Amino acid sequence: MKYQSTRNNSVCVESAYAIGNGISPEGGLYVPESLPTLTLDDICALCSLKYKERASKILGLFLTDYTAEELDYCAENAYLASKFGSENTAPVVSLSDSLNILELWHGPTCAFKDMALQILPYLLKLAIKKNGEEKEVVILVATSGDTGKAALEGFKDVEGTKIQVFYPVDGVSKIQKLQMATQSGANVDICAVKGNFDDAQTGVKKIFTNNDYKKELSSRGYTFSSANSINWGRLAPQIVYYFSAYCDLLNSKKINAGDKINVVVPTGNFGNILAAFYAKMMGLPINKLICASNTNNILTDFINTGVYDRNRSFFTTDSPSMDILISSNLERLLYHLSEGNDALIREYMSSLEKDGKYTVSDEIKSKVSELFAADCCDDKETAQTISKYFDKYSYVPDTHTAVALNVYEKYVAKTGDNTVTVVASTANPFKFNKAVVSAIAPDVSLDDKDEFELLELLAQKGNIDIPVQLSELKTKAVRFDDVCCKEDMIKQTDKFLN
Ligand SMILES: *Cc1c(COP(=O)(O)O)cnc(C)c1O
Repeated sequence: MKYQSTRNNSVCVESAYAIGNGISPEGGLYVPESLPTLTLDDICALCSLKYKERASKILGLFLTDYTAEELDYCAENAYLASKFGSENTAPVVSLSDSLNILELWHGPTCAFKDMALQILPYLLKLAIKKNGEEKEVVILVATSGDTGKAALEGFKDVEGTKIQVFYPVDGVSKIQKLQMATQSGANVDICAVKGNFDDAQTGVKKIFTNNDYKKELSSRGYTFSSANSINWGRLAPQIVYYFSAYCDLLNSKKINAGDKINVVVPTGNFGNILAAFYAKMMGLPINKLICASNTNNILTDFINTGVYDRNRSFFTTDSPSMDILISSNLERLLYHLSEGNDALIREYMSSLEKDGKYTVSDEIKSKVSELFAADCCDDKETAQTISKYFDKYSYVPDTHTAVALNVYEKYVAKTGDNTVTVVASTANPFKFNKAVVSAIAPDVSLDDKDEFELLELLAQKGNIDIPVQLSELKTKAVRFDDVCCKEDMIKQTDKFLN
């Protein structure tokens, strides 16, 4: 399997090269030249396997320059029961005959980013070896909160790598900030950026594509890579859990082989839902891909109108990991839907850069509306949804999952489509404790409560256990408190590498 760039389809590289380099030199994203397909029998054959084995099998279809033994090793170590609470790495919880929650947050940082970021360092270390790279690999990450911590946990003390994380100074929850500020590891650095997530992401992209600076660092023995979802090594592992969920539904007889399911994904950078799109294209019986947004509903508008327009207000919401106006991975979708028309993608992306806007062709627009449905949900509806699911099912969704549940209900009300549905649940509710506890216990005053009192309160009101990864933050020392302007991010990187 070879990989092309969305902005230059004559690029032809192996997966290790794509994973090692993160982004193509002209700014495009690496995509597989074709998609492997699985028959229903192939899918059924995955049913008796554990998650890590399913992962190794699916990854093997894409990372053909890795051996089966290598991928077994990567998956085995990434998805240890000691890190994910059990061998059931991504459990499916059924709330009703048709509604199922795919819990993707049982990993070390309590968010779905662990699903990919626990395995990426293993894939990358092998990629470095395969590529004959002798330089130290510097991972730069822009985060809206969850990626940063998950990448730090994945890469801390990984030989031959250094990792630096930038996050929007007021754009992450207190727990997220604390998770990062207390990070252990000798090869890590964390800095807040005065700006929003898009500023941080744009800043990182600028450092990545600054050829003069790259040359200088190269002479100092460093090369850059990325752990953001623009890296193929992040996306491929996410495809696995959609297959895995389907197998779990087959195993629990919620569906019969071949039945279609709907998938609802709370979406920010379009990585998670793109993985579901890949799964569908590979033959997983998926009916609709339902894209859920918060008030930053640029994707809702895009899917419903074919116009991507970032000339709009940016909102800070209770689901901050989705507070994004530039959904990088959409570029990959457009590339596939345009049958690899790199000129067209260059045109869209340059008009996005110049005018903050592009309009896709009618052909792409109609493909998008056939595959996807989209809607959005504000903070008030999010809170109502959390409270509703707690009352009705004694289930406590986090704010991002609640956005998805709310959009799912709107979809069913609009279409009457009662297909068995999997809702991707992307964070442990304790990670966004304040919004969640105020939704299920609206009468309790929270203003005088610190983070740890909020955790206790959520445990008590929601009747759920605090994950140790979060309760232990109380006793950990803060190691990082740097703040910089978006123009100075490159200086911060330079300081870290000196
Ligand atoms: C990152 C994240 C999302 C958005 O996922 P994308 O792949 O960027 O669309 C949603 N929810 C949570 C909790 C996240 O951390």
